[in-house]
Parts: sequence; C-alpha cells; structure tokens
Amino acid sequence: MGQGATEQFDLAVVGAGVIGLACAKAAARRGKRVVVIDRDAQANGASVRNFGFITVTGQAAGDMWAWARRSADLWADLAEQAAIPILHRGMVMAARRPESVTVLEAFLKTDMAEECRWLDANGLAALRPELAAGEHLGALYSPHELRVESREAIPRFAAWLEQSQGVTFKRQTSVTGVETGRVHTTEGIIWADAVVVCPGDELVTLFPDRLADLGVTRCKLQMLRLANPGYRLNGGVMSDLGLIRYSGYADLPQAQALKARLLAEQGDHLANGVHLIVVQSADGSLVVGDSHHYAPTPDPFSHQTVDDLILKEFAAVFGGPAPAVLERWVGTYAYAADRDVVIDEPAPRVRLVTVTTGAGASVSLALGEDVISDFI
Ligand SMILES: Cc1cc2nc3c(=O)[nH]c(=O)nc-3n(C[C@H](O)[C@H](O)[C@H](O)COP(=O)(O)OP(=O)(O)OC[C@H]3O[C@@H](n4cnc5c(N)ncnc54)[C@H](O)[C@@H]3O)c2cc1C
Repeated sequence: MGQGATEQFDLAVVGAGVIGLACAKAAARRGKRVVVIDRDAQANGASVRNFGFITVTGQAAGDMWAWARRSADLWADLAEQAAIPILHRGMVMAARRPESVTVLEAFLKTDMAEECRWLDANGLAALRPELAAGEHLGALYSPHELRVESREAIPRFAAWLEQSQGVTFKRQTSVTGVETGRVHTTEGIIWADAVVVCPGDELVTLFPDRLADLGVTRCKLQMLRLANPGYRLNGGVMSDLGLIRYSGYADLPQAQALKARLLAEQGDHLANGVHLIVVQSADGSLVVGDSHHYAPTPDPFSHQTVDDLILKEFAAVFGGPAPAVLERWVGTYAYAADRDVVIDEPAPRVRLVTVTTGAGASVSLALGEDVISDFI
C-alpha cells in the first residue's frame, strides 16, 4: 500500500488485552482483515497482572460457566499453536470447615460439577502433599483449569496473531472516538466495516455514558509472588474463602451458613475481599492473591495489612508460614454489581465488550467467538 493510501479493515479492535485479542483471533479465523489498536507499547493491564488461571469450576451458572468451559479447550488449542506453555492443570478447593464441605457437596450435585470429584482428607494429602499440614476436611478436585504465565502468554498470543494470522497491530495509539465505519485515533482515522471496543477498565474515554448507565466501576486487587517453596504444586489451590466469592458456589443456598461463619471468624478477610488463589510458575515461585476494593479510581498502593491477610490465609491452608515475598503488584478490572459481562451496541456495527468480574481470562476465547460470530 502506498504512502498516504487509506487502509480499510473488516474489523478494528480497540484494546490489546485478552478480550481484544480473543475477538481479533475469532475474526482472523474467519478470514477477516483485522487491526488491533492499543495506547500502550505492550499489554500492561489486567490481562498481564492476573494469575493466568483459566478457571471453569466456580464460574457463575449459565453463560459464564459455559464460556469458561469452552474457553479452556480453546486455550489448550491456542497454547499449542502459539507456543504458550501450560504450567499446570486442575485445581483443588480445599475445605477446613464443615460448612464448606456442605457447599461443595451441594455443588457436586449440580451440572457444573462435570468431571469434578470429592477428595477426603487422605485423598487431598495424597494428591497435594503440600497441603497435608493444613487441617483440611477434604477438597473438591476440578480437572478443567489451566495455568499460563500471563506476562509471557499475552505477548505470545499477540505475536502469533500478527505473524501467523495476519492481524495488524497499531501500538502506542490512543483511540479518541468510535463511530460506525471509522475509528479516530491519535495517529489519524482507521477505517473498518465493524469495530469492537474492548477497553478493559478504561471507562471514561469511549462510550462513558453507556458504561456509567450499566453501573460499571473498577475493582483493585493486590497480588504477591512468593519464593519457590521447594515443591511442585501441579495445580491451582483455593480455599474456603473462595466459596463465598465465586458465584458457582456462592449462589448456592448452602453458602449462607459458611458466609456467616467466615464473617465471624475472618471478618477482616471479608471486609477486604480477600480470598486465596495459589498458582505456580515455571521457576517454582508462587503467584498468590488476592483482595478486592471497589472505586472509580482506586488508589495505586499495595497495603501491607491486606498482604498480611492473604499471607495468613496461605499459612492456614498450607499449614506453615508463607515463603518470602519476591514481588508485589496491584491490578484493576472493570466491575459491575449486577452483571458479569457487558456486550453493548453503542452504534450500528460497533460492539462494546468488557468483562465486569474477575474472570476475563477464563471466558475470553469463547466470549470472543460469540461476539464476533454475532455480527461479522
Ligand atoms: C490482579 C488480577 C487477577 C486476576 N486473575 C484472573 C484469573 O486468574 N483468571 C481470570 O480469568 N481472570 C482474572 N482476572 C481478570 C482478567 O484479568 C480480566 O477480566 C481481563 O484481563 C480483562 O481483559 P481486557 O482485555 O478486557 O482488559 P485489559 O487487559 O485491561 O486490556 C484493555 C486494553 O485496552 C486498552 N485501551 C483501553 N482504552 C483504550 C483507548 N481509548 N485507546 C487505546 N487503547 C485502549 C488498554 O491500553 C489495554 O491494553 C484478574 C484481574 C486482575 C486485575
């Protein structure tokens, strides 16, 4: 194309986080000419700050669980094609309280328990000896989860789209406006038959009124990387606190009794939205979190009191002190109290898509497929 000529795309994607990349992948797979536009030089948002934990079990019943279930398979396929290592698979949801056991027993009777199973204390100690000192009554085992190192996986996903799927990337380019057929950027206008805006938690630049009407705000999370404890976890670990946070369990009536007990015993954890996820990296270090604080502009600081709550839960679950903290960071994602996903049509042939709960990586690839197949 000669200098000054106008490039025309079938689809422009605003945002090179995991949701934007998922939409780009789905459109490229259909043979469409796709451009992805992002203000940053490389992915820097929630998509690289998360656990890289592609979870299925525990997602909200309905669309979220179905998207997560399909996405896990799509992630396994993408990992192979884009040379993204899968660091471990599966998850144990360990229970230290009888009320947690009751929630998990109820969960195991739902359709979402497909291929999951109950482990008694001996079964858990056999599968995850690292938890043997943690005084657990048992655990739910789920085989569906995958773990990738997001800070490496997302750049590889983008590179694969660019090099193998012919997707064009325009980085360090801020999008200032979107209308049907065109995208206004700091580098000029980009013409595209269709546009998908995947802004993550950037809520005030594009279609701010729509996002405000839908009650979208932001959630801040604190995260830790701990030193290699000397064992291989070989799967994600969660605990009782997760049972009142993840809708797949928390929406069960049995979760109310657990919530009451946790409020009495771990009120500070609940007040700071702390629950436990532990995953392991290739070098043996553990990624551990997290907390949840909600505000339109959350403060950017990691608070020691909150980290201490996370580490305290780690110590209870593993039955001993946590390894040294190597790294601390915060992340934010879009949040809405009454919906898990926004899929809006702010103009003809324009979609606005953001995941408003902390599960965007888990549902991304199937969500991208559905968004694209619906209008391209
Ligand atoms: C700490 C943390 C832990 C998490 N853990 C998990 C987990 O284990 N599993 C899971 O499934 N989910 C997890 N999540 C949630 C998940 O990471 C998010 O739901 C997901 O990454 C959101 O992806 P996104 O593409 O919408 O947003 P982002 O990754 O934030 O990407 C949005 C992109 O849009 C760009 N952008 C926005 N506006 C413009 C504009 N006007 N012009 C140009 N570019 C623009 C930004 O620069 C950014 O690159 C976690 C989130 C956090 C913060």
